Amino acid sequence: MKINRTYNITVLTLFPEMFPGSLGYSLAAKARENRVWDLQTVNIRDFADDNYGTVDDVPYGGGPGMILKPEVLGRAFDANIPGKDWDKIVLTPRGKPLTQNRIKKISTKKGLLIVCGRYEGLDERFVKSRSLEEISIGDYVLTGGEIPAMVLVEAISRLVPGVLGDPESVVEESFTDGLLEYPQYTRPRDYQGFKVPEILISG
Ligand code: SAM
Repeated sequence: MKINRTYNITVLTLFPEMFPGSLGYSLAAKARENRVWDLQTVNIRDFADDNYGTVDDVPYGGGPGMILKPEVLGRAFDANIPGKDWDKIVLTPRGKPLTQNRIKKISTKKGLLIVCGRYEGLDERFVKSRSLEEISIGDYVLTGGEIPAMVLVEAISRLVPGVLGDPESVVEESFTDGLLEYPQYTRPRDYQGFKVPEILISG
């Protein structure tokens, strides 16, 4: 398969072994094999500077849990500087809600760097100093940013040319024009007394 470019993704995470996860299946996996898109993971812990691999510390002001240290995150980021035309996203419940519109814009860029949080989150100074965009996948709290990263990458990868077999599929999808897709049916015409709407049969 001839492709014009590869959409590159770098994921900073404490759990690189979680990837590619769901992205290793079906059309996304095939497109990755064909280098339509590619993903590399970076283990944040490799950038700890003590023998224990310490990546977190207690929060200033008290409170439960631990915060990912800015120096460790900063070193991980600086060793994997994203391209000029890349988006740089950190996943956090506090971020802007992810929408199909935002995903569409992200998919037109050359690449994407994603930072996955863990524990109580990341030191704010890392987020600000590297000008990261904060994105949330919904108003609920997960344990880490890895599943949100997969959600983000899967949604983006569907829009990268060459991933879906039929490019028309994304044109009529839900949210594309601010509308939701109509209900779909296949054979048989009558399923346990539930019939396919007449209008779809008469054409
Ligand atoms: N203390 C944080 C708060 O109250 O907002 C929650 C931290 S959460 C337990 C740990 C990490 O999971 C976050 O840093 C983030 O990377 C990820 N995460 C959890 N829920 C998320 C969501 N809804 N959207 C994006 N990332 C999320």
